[in-house]
Amino acid sequence: MFSSNMLRSIRNDLPMAFTVAQLADKAPFSKFIEGFFRFECPYCHELRATVNPRNNLAHCFLCHKNINNIDLLILLGYDFKDAVRVSFPPL
Ligand SMILES: [Zn+2]
Repeated sequence: MFSSNMLRSIRNDLPMAFTVAQLADKAPFSKFIEGFFRFECPYCHELRATVNPRNNLAHCFLCHKNINNIDLLILLGYDFKDAVRVSFPPL
């Protein structure tokens, strides 16, 4: 069972750029643009999902969806437990 602190930490503290890097060939296209990490939005497929460094949440400036680390992994086809495992790989 995952503790609420662990889940909160994955959502809020784990940089989204790290999560995307963990996905290797399954990662959405991403790029740092003007100092902000952006990736291909899993909803509209445009490079408009932009991570707010203050809250570590992505917002798509085209379709206006908000995406956190766990949302992103589930949208890419991981089930919830696998999403947590990808975020916290075994040491
Ligand atoms: Zn979008």
